[in-house]
Amino acid sequence: MLPNFTYERPGSVDEALEHGSSEGAVLHAGGTDLLGCLRDGVFSAKKVVSLSGLEELRGISPTRDGGLRVGALTTLTGVASDPTIAERYTVLAQAAASAASPQLRNQGTIGGNICQRPRCWYFRGDWHCLRKGGDTCYAIAGENHFHCIFGGSGCYIVHPSDTAPALQALGASVRIASRSGSRTVPIESFFLLPADDIQRENLLEPGELVTEVLLPPVASGTRSVYRKVRDRGAWDFALAGLAAVVTMPGDSVETASLVLSGVAPKPWRAAEAEGALTGARLDAETIARVVAASVAGALPLEHNGYKVALVRGLMEETLRALA
Ligand SMILES: Cc1cc2nc3c(=O)[nH]c(=O)nc-3n(C[C@H](O)[C@H](O)[C@H](O)COP(=O)(O)OP(=O)(O)OC[C@H]3O[C@@H](n4cnc5c(N)ncnc54)[C@H](O)[C@@H]3O)c2cc1C
Repeated sequence: MLPNFTYERPGSVDEALEHGSSEGAVLHAGGTDLLGCLRDGVFSAKKVVSLSGLEELRGISPTRDGGLRVGALTTLTGVASDPTIAERYTVLAQAAASAASPQLRNQGTIGGNICQRPRCWYFRGDWHCLRKGGDTCYAIAGENHFHCIFGGSGCYIVHPSDTAPALQALGASVRIASRSGSRTVPIESFFLLPADDIQRENLLEPGELVTEVLLPPVASGTRSVYRKVRDRGAWDFALAGLAAVVTMPGDSVETASLVLSGVAPKPWRAAEAEGALTGARLDAETIARVVAASVAGALPLEHNGYKVALVRGLMEETLRALA
């Protein structure tokens, strides 16, 4: 059962920021993640501030620099089915289409998707883990099949979003509003590792609100793809995924952005693999080098060593498809 809280439905961003800044307030976009967290006692709220009245946060429109603005309240279905995104930002359309189920994509928003809380079953369950202010990570000696192989320290969650790695691979930024003004942050700096802050997954301060996601213009010759491996054929979170954006005006790769999902507490840039790919011809020899580099630094836990092989396989499949 949901606990008691007060409910506000502001009609402007300023009003939302006012309500969102009060102690114990939480923001409600589509509610597909938030309401489960409140019902299960993952965290509590004194006040739920619905964003559903903020029409200016909906929709997709071109920007002056030739890029695209995606309002934070745009649904995942809206992102997946937008013709410009499908054609020019294919990796994002594919990532949004691969998230959750059709009903959840109709209700869940892009802002909520990048801000959703982790799915670690200890964090979501009755365990007072480090991320909830406790002093133990129960995954270290526990059931860590779905936990991270990169970037863990103290806490071993994986970031659950499919759209976040796609946005990062595209070089997107997020616009953040607060009562003291607005700022634009590259999405790569938006997400935090446990070493940065063990209780937060992103740099939003209480009372701050993501208003939009900004996509830069795409260079000609860009190819992009999102591939995701899950436990079963129907909807599920990524065991591992790869967002790849490659610029290849001729035979050689000019720029490469390779960002993994499902394997780290934030979208994980496979920097060594990008280095091995940039400037090279996309042939079998290059692919073998990139595959080897893609798992550099992986530190599996007791039960998730299979993710190392998954990442290698995903990288090989994806690069072969792009070639
Ligand atoms: C069964 C199930 C399966 C799923 N499978 C997948 C999957 O495979 N891949 C995937 O990526 N996701 C998956 N999800 C997650 C789902 O996509 C998210 O729940 C959804 O995208 C969240 O969007 P929302 O608008 O409902 O957010 P809400 O539930 O309203 O909010 C989520 C969180 O983000 C915060 N928030 C929301 N909007 C903003 C904003 N504009 N600014 C600041 N903070 C904000 C809220 O305060 C809350 O903490 C799944 C969810 C379920 C329940």
